[in-house]
Amino acid sequence: MDGPGRGRFSFPFRAEVLWKRRGKKFEGKEMEGNRGLKALETLVFERDLCTMCGACAQMCPYLVPWKGRIVKLHDCDLPEGRCYEYCPRTRVQLDDLQEAIFGIREPDPEMGVVRRVLATRAKDPEMRGKAQTAGSTSAIVALALEEGVVDGALLTRKGDELLPEGVVVRDPARVWECAGSSYVASPTLAALNRERWNGDEKLAVVGIPCQILALAKMKGSKLPNPTARPKVVLTVGLFCTWALNYGPFSRFLRERFKAESILGMDITPPPERLLLVKTQQGIQALPLDHIRPFIRPTCAICWDMTSELADISIGTLEGRSGWNTLIVRTQLGEEILGRAVERGLLEVEEMRMEELAHLKEASLLKKRRAILALKERKEGGSLYLDPIPRWAHLLEAGSEEVAR
Ligand SMILES: Cc1cc2nc3c(=O)[nH]c(=O)nc-3n(C[C@H](O)[C@H](O)[C@H](O)COP(=O)(O)OP(=O)(O)OC[C@H]3O[C@@H](n4cnc5c(N)ncnc54)[C@H](O)[C@@H]3O)c2cc1C
Ligand code: SF4
Ligand code: SF4
Repeated sequence: MDGPGRGRFSFPFRAEVLWKRRGKKFEGKEMEGNRGLKALETLVFERDLCTMCGACAQMCPYLVPWKGRIVKLHDCDLPEGRCYEYCPRTRVQLDDLQEAIFGIREPDPEMGVVRRVLATRAKDPEMRGKAQTAGSTSAIVALALEEGVVDGALLTRKGDELLPEGVVVRDPARVWECAGSSYVASPTLAALNRERWNGDEKLAVVGIPCQILALAKMKGSKLPNPTARPKVVLTVGLFCTWALNYGPFSRFLRERFKAESILGMDITPPPERLLLVKTQQGIQALPLDHIRPFIRPTCAICWDMTSELADISIGTLEGRSGWNTLIVRTQLGEEILGRAVERGLLEVEEMRMEELAHLKEASLLKKRRAILALKERKEGGSLYLDPIPRWAHLLEAGSEEVAR
């Protein structure tokens, strides 16, 4: 198959329908009355705001992921659609989503709803060796499958030629096959739309913040869903500051390495700031500045570093090599963490004061940057975070109140 949908759809692929920035300004009126694919095109694709989360793709025959892009195969005139509704870059009513998930409006402005923050790592050193940071994510997902909390887990695997994709795993032993981070944005959520479900399955999803946000919007949506869907009962959110554009980044890598020789990638914290490419020939270090041009433009307006809408959020613990930072946000998260410790799958330590302070600072910094970037964009910025959360006003005003 050399084009999206070739062989699967009766109409030919229209290569010219990849979205290009046309510099078209957003005008509220233009979108009046449309909350479907047309509005998605104008507000998200044409403004280069797509995160590639995959939530809109493969629900209908018109939108498919293809080599790092979402491709439109045909126009759609429907006045409203789930593609628009679920997108993390159309209207986000954050307070409502937080209230629906946690029963709390306007939580902690620094990192959202937080029950506990811990340093964790998978107990088994062999498993840790397979993981990106310390294996807490894979250990928790495998446990949720083993204990029947969920029937399946939607994960991301590195597909061919470094192109990541969503995959549903039902066997706990296979969770570790997806360990490791792909820093290329992955249309993971398209697998939710693509898979065949009977409607009774319970699912865990591991995702970056924009994917977790799309899932929260899906859960809150009142639009009828004609197809069977699994119930997403557990969300494990990863920390994220940016993801890369597949096309230009893979070309950049291919000029330097053979795709099949790349085993994985990692990013070193400041002051080093390097992208480490692990190859069969050894580790190659590239200055992070060389890959900045490949960061997706939408990441500039992303306010969420710690996956604030997840049950459990996991990232790298800076300054303590081989440990994860783990934030417990819900009762279910608390229970699963408790079981993982009880069964000796996870090691847990307290976070040090300075580590916690650093985490809060980094999270606030991302929010502050996003608010400034949104303001710079002017057109339609308010549409995405609408109403604008209180912390955004405080950060914009440079108030110290938000840091307390
Ligand atoms: C694009 C991206 C940016 C990140 N940026 C930061 C950051 O700035 N700071 C920080 O502390 N941590 C960041 N992380 C998280 C970090 O890389 C680790 O995933 C996290 O520390 C968990 O480590 P682990 O060893 O527990 O994960 P593992 O046990 O190795 O599990 C990793 C999980 O990540 C999932 N995954 C891999 N690639 C993707 C992807 N592209 N999209 C969605 N899910 C994926 C897999 O399904 C797997 O379940 C980022 C991750 C990604 C994917
Ligand atoms: S951000 Fe996600 S839902 Fe929105 S257009 Fe892109 S892939 Fe689709
Ligand atoms: S920074 Fe935000 S928008 Fe960009 S990939 Fe990460 S979660 Fe998605």
